[in-house]
Amino acid sequence: MAATLDTIVSLAKRRGFIFPSSEIYGGLGAVYDYGPLGVELKRNVRERWWRAMVHEHEDVVGLDSAILMHPTVWKASGHVDAFNDPMIDDKQSNKRYRADQLIEGHIAKLEKKKKTQEAERVHAALVEALNADDPSSALHALILAEEIRAPESGAFDWTEVRQFNLMFETKVGAVGGDTIYLRPETAQGIFVHFGNVQQTSRQQVPFGIAQIGKAFRNEVVARQFIFRMREFEQMEMQYFVAPGSQMEHYAEWAEKRMNWHMSNGIRPSRLRWHDHEKLAHYADAAKDVQYEYPFGWQEIEGIHSRTDFDLSRHQEFSGKKLEYFDPQTKERYIPYVVETSVGLDRTILMLLCDAFHEEEVPTAKEGKTESRSVLRFHPSIAPYQVAVFPLVKKDGMDDKAKAIAADLRGGLNVFYDEKGAVGRRYRRQDEIGTPFAVTVDGDTMEDGTVTIRSRDTMEQDRIPAENIAAYVKDATAA
Ligand code: ATP
Repeated sequence: MAATLDTIVSLAKRRGFIFPSSEIYGGLGAVYDYGPLGVELKRNVRERWWRAMVHEHEDVVGLDSAILMHPTVWKASGHVDAFNDPMIDDKQSNKRYRADQLIEGHIAKLEKKKKTQEAERVHAALVEALNADDPSSALHALILAEEIRAPESGAFDWTEVRQFNLMFETKVGAVGGDTIYLRPETAQGIFVHFGNVQQTSRQQVPFGIAQIGKAFRNEVVARQFIFRMREFEQMEMQYFVAPGSQMEHYAEWAEKRMNWHMSNGIRPSRLRWHDHEKLAHYADAAKDVQYEYPFGWQEIEGIHSRTDFDLSRHQEFSGKKLEYFDPQTKERYIPYVVETSVGLDRTILMLLCDAFHEEEVPTAKEGKTESRSVLRFHPSIAPYQVAVFPLVKKDGMDDKAKAIAADLRGGLNVFYDEKGAVGRRYRRQDEIGTPFAVTVDGDTMEDGTVTIRSRDTMEQDRIPAENIAAYVKDATAA
């Protein structure tokens, strides 16, 4: 059975993956905290991304830039003027909507409907409104024509469409300080350090700079759990290339990024490409990796060919040269940029949705089944790689199991559990996605072997205790 979002939200809370922020005070909209299991999951994903992007590429180096930056950065990047969402309120229900999402939702509905002439007309007008330079006024005209209704109430009493800047503002220093912003993306930290990184790392174009870090957006509507948050984490890589070579690098990184998602165990049938129909004025190609979440196909990562827009703007606004001198061709130019930008939290939500299974499994009793829920995480992503249990807490089995667990902790994250029936302990590990469970029983005390049970097949092998680490690591390395 496929997971609903509610199932995932409640599992995440119940097992300690993700909690609403400041929950005892009623929470804070679209802000979430990662609990003991979530934090392990997140660390493992970060680690895999860093390894795949930085350590496995001689021509990619890392950076960790600050969240707070000089305010002119955001003028140069275009965020002060254009990082807006058109929003609209329904006065009757007191609900706020993102105008573009409202239109998109309506388009999707019209596409499903049998196409009457009227539906065709509205459909075309809405598509045009979305692509127009001034979508807000076009949208407003449509609203006045009573084409869009508030989804819940069926009635409508809309306010004007207003532009809402998504950047969080704060003040620097004491009274009267300048307004600065919490960064809405990590990329600008990379652009402004292009020169520093290039010179100190002695990289030559083409090369990339990678960064993982927090970003903040005051999203107008924030539903869908950790899909759209106001504080979230991005994993971005900007690859600097010679003008004219960008399409080749764009294709190369797109392929690598899709493969990365599949290497994390995501079902290929739930991944697809979505080409942008409308490009930002500075981009010459852009597409998204989409995942089929319980609430539909949605963006998880963007691959963008951004030309020399970013470096040119920073050169213009800072007055500092951001050019590159090619020692081979003796040419001087502002590099073009191909970027890959993936949300860590959206990746976590995708992993939870994709790994979740509810299934009927046989019990010890002939012919009887029971249901189990299991997270089939890739072993190197699972919060714990192995659990260790004594079959019963006597005859030295618990001490032996503790010693084995302690031994394994050198290289693995290990869950030790001696409470309750072994079957229940297995189920608990299934539900948090631990790929292997080791049980110490009477035979262990005689011959030093243990059983090792696979989460996915539920089959057990009997192996010498000293082989556990190698057995688990073999599976984890894949
Ligand atoms: P959307 O259209 O869904 O708002 P976007 O196109 O604005 O996303 P980008 O600016 O390209 O997103 O950001 C790159 C990635 O950062 C996205 O693919 C997504 O994974 C992640 N991301 C962006 N906004 C959020 C958010 N509010 N919460 C969680 N992740 C986000």
